[in-house]
Amino acid sequence: VRAQIMEVITSPGVNYDMIGGVGDILLEVIESVELPLTDPDLFKKIGIEPPTGVLLYGAPGTGKTLIAKAIASQANATFIRMSGSDLVQKFVGEGARLVRDVFQMARDKSPSILFIDEIDAVGGMRTHDGTTGSAEVNRTMLQLLAEMDGFDPTGDVKIIAATNRIDLLDPALLRPGRFDRIIEVPLPDESGRSDILKIHTRHMSLGDDVDFDRLAKLTDGFSGADLKVVVKEAGMFVLRKRGEEVTMDDFLKAVDKMKSEEELSVVQGM
Ligand code: ATP
Repeated sequence: VRAQIMEVITSPGVNYDMIGGVGDILLEVIESVELPLTDPDLFKKIGIEPPTGVLLYGAPGTGKTLIAKAIASQANATFIRMSGSDLVQKFVGEGARLVRDVFQMARDKSPSILFIDEIDAVGGMRTHDGTTGSAEVNRTMLQLLAEMDGFDPTGDVKIIAATNRIDLLDPALLRPGRFDRIIEVPLPDESGRSDILKIHTRHMSLGDDVDFDRLAKLTDGFSGADLKVVVKEAGMFVLRKRGEEVTMDDFLKAVDKMKSEEELSVVQGM
């Protein structure tokens, strides 16, 4: 069970230059999570307690997981991912024990970054209707709070939690002392989108006419993950016609395709 619930990567191999459009956010996470691991004396000298972890929130596909992996890579820390929704959906009755196991694993493999994805699945508002399902989720949540409260801030395990739905989180999780920083990872702005497109096309043979600024203008509302799909689709168009380089026209077609799929899913209420 342990192996299924966790993803453990010794060295995720993600660099900061693989993340676009997150500017100050990345600096904040580096300061709160990476520095305490790589330079704990800095905190000692100033006389401040290092943060135990941060909560990242924002739309899906904006790079929360990517940031956590990059921090682990840079700090030479083990990356351990636990999914909140797996915890409550796939392992009913075992949630609390698994939370304990994951925190133990993080200590055993330290220095480590414990990434708790979709924390809202466990840490959603606690219900008081006493149904078995929610009582089980409550137990899992209480175990999570207990683990976090017992955390040694000077130790070499740090927590990064992520959610798309901060509005659903139990206020207990947001209380000061649990997450030192609560940081929004928003959808990228125009220049961020241009940066992300450049990152994902780094290894592509590009036509001279490719205009990233124009593509960034046309992709308002797209996440980093959406832009990655656009790049891949554009590449597939070229592959299909056995072309040699990806031109502006291929990118434009890929953007249109994404937009019409988006509209379709809105119409179908998906
Ligand atoms: P979710 O909330 O759905 O788990 P997430 O915010 O954790 O999403 P990621 O899993 O980090 O998003 O993003 C998915 C993929 O999209 C990444 O592996 C990366 O390839 C691409 N991507 C997302 N955001 C960025 C970004 N800011 N810069 C570059 N690539 C990005």
